[in-house]
Amino acid sequence: MAAGFEGKLEGRYFVPESSFSHPASLEMRDGSLVVTIPETGQTHMPEFAELGDRLGNVPRKILFEDGSVFECPDNDAVDRAFHRELSFFSRMSRWEASWKFIVFACLATVAVVFGLYRYGLPVAANLAAWATPSGVVATIDRSTLDTVDRLVFKPSNLDEDEQERYRSVFAKLRSAAGLGDGDTRLLFRDGGKLGANAVALPGGTVILTDQLAQLAKHDDEIAGVLAHEIGHVTGRHSLRQVYRALGIGFMVAVILGDTSQLLDNIVSQLALLDTLSYSRKFENEADGTSVMIMNETGRNPLAFMDLIDRVFEEAGVENEQSGWLSTHPGNRERREEVIRRIDELPQ
Ligand SMILES: [Zn+2]
Repeated sequence: MAAGFEGKLEGRYFVPESSFSHPASLEMRDGSLVVTIPETGQTHMPEFAELGDRLGNVPRKILFEDGSVFECPDNDAVDRAFHRELSFFSRMSRWEASWKFIVFACLATVAVVFGLYRYGLPVAANLAAWATPSGVVATIDRSTLDTVDRLVFKPSNLDEDEQERYRSVFAKLRSAAGLGDGDTRLLFRDGGKLGANAVALPGGTVILTDQLAQLAKHDDEIAGVLAHEIGHVTGRHSLRQVYRALGIGFMVAVILGDTSQLLDNIVSQLALLDTLSYSRKFENEADGTSVMIMNETGRNPLAFMDLIDRVFEEAGVENEQSGWLSTHPGNRERREEVIRRIDELPQ
């Protein structure tokens, strides 16, 4: 892991099981990481264990097997030394150079300030969600996926035939929703601690977990869930939700033009996946989209409710899930609402 380490980092070295720390440097010598403490002239060669996560401007921790820690305030230098991919922060400085982004930032500022004065937070969040250009949304999507892949998901074990079948179901639903190839895509993951679930990221990436696929007894059940997630995509729900969650701080960041911080915040919010626990209004809206496009593709629009019931039986808990299960308005109530929507479909 530390094999590719390059350069030299300056920071502090924390001695194992003690709160003592010394100014120190870290570099690679003859294939081993070496900590040098200039004060005492001492060197240490602890075994590398793990590189801590990057959290805003918090000094990065490099952890060693013996419990000692090297802390470096220069996150970019740490990323370079460990060959981690460009941080969100560094990517942002490139966007700032693009005229499209500058135009967007001006428009978003006007929209947000106007919205803030006129309608308050929810509407401003909606405006901002719709004003966010697709390039920025795609980057948010990619960064969020990177993060949740690291923290939550594992690679899918679903067999290729099954994946292919769901992909073709998804493609038909997508067209029925009026979306094109580039607007939304379906990925498969082992859900890890998220278990049987499905989520939609801001740029239209829909993730179906193996655990949910395994609980399904009919393709219509999965199709209904996918159609529901497509509903979150077409409604830009995740972006609207995250903008609301970031609230006034977000407005201030946009107005002051501190967009790097802003986008870091968006990604860390989304990575919690809690933010994807949508409001009840968004859930109802997504159910509505699901009923509509399931009907249009000749599938049973009620089937996914059976799958949801099964997930809860399996989990044995209510209201403790993230994602599309979380704020469900009680399964029975939700089923009744779905049936009502089906009855209202044009014959
Ligand atoms: Zn949902």
